[in-house]
Amino acid sequence: MLNNVKIVLIGTSHSGNIGSAARAMKVMGLSRLVLVAPECEIDGKAVAMAAGASDIMNRAQVVNTLEEAIADCTLVVGSSARPRHLEWPQLETREFGQKMVAEGQHSKVAIVFGRERTGLTNDELQTCHFHVNIPANAEYSSLNLAMAVQTLSYEVRMAWLESQTQAISEAEQDYPLAEDLERFYIHLERALTSSNFIIKAHPGAVMNKLRRLFNRARPEQQELNILRGMLTAFEREMAQSKAVETTENTDKK
Ligand code: SAH
Repeated sequence: MLNNVKIVLIGTSHSGNIGSAARAMKVMGLSRLVLVAPECEIDGKAVAMAAGASDIMNRAQVVNTLEEAIADCTLVVGSSARPRHLEWPQLETREFGQKMVAEGQHSKVAIVFGRERTGLTNDELQTCHFHVNIPANAEYSSLNLAMAVQTLSYEVRMAWLESQTQAISEAEQDYPLAEDLERFYIHLERALTSSNFIIKAHPGAVMNKLRRLFNRARPEQQELNILRGMLTAFEREMAQSKAVETTENTDKK
């Protein structure tokens, strides 16, 4: 999925920013860099800033127009330092990450970044489906280009990680049936009553509170088995010590 995300930089003029952007991408697992009409060469400064991410920079696609950069994408989001610069559909940063990940599962998607000094033109912004703004300090909201790439790449990564853990936990979690949970509560109440933790004549709200606790924790089947096993072990021990006590008392008599 992350291979389907393109980072498009338009008219970049500082080569160091291209290197830093490549590094920002690589640490977040992104690899497709597209340079639209760059105004600088990939020079020593770019290589130095890219550090271990020169491979991404060397593989960057260089094109003349934004249209070429995004021709094979189904979703294009423009990033702007100015919030609501135009009346255009906006995405919050979290929502942006989720949308990129959801759509990036099936097709290529792009995030477009503007020039260091002037950002994106209105025409470029209007080529995008949505705009995203990093909600920075209103009095000083313009991030360095590579840092904007870092922040939005991080949002994509967070949304992607979330989608991975969701898929795993949905597949792995094995919750007990309500009737199994009910049997556990009956068992718990019996054990707590026979140990006199709950006084039969005045049970109070203990069971209600324990039910709330376990419902909040949502034990999985295996965890419920452990809890049932614990109760059985305690009950067995209690029954044994009661039997010993009775024998001792009978002996005394
Ligand atoms: N002076 C320019 C900002 C250029 S910063 C302007 O006023 O538009 C270079 C690029 O980094 C921007 O075009 C944008 O793509 C990105 N960027 C910087 N700050 C951002 C922010 N707060 N939210 C989203 N993108 C931002």
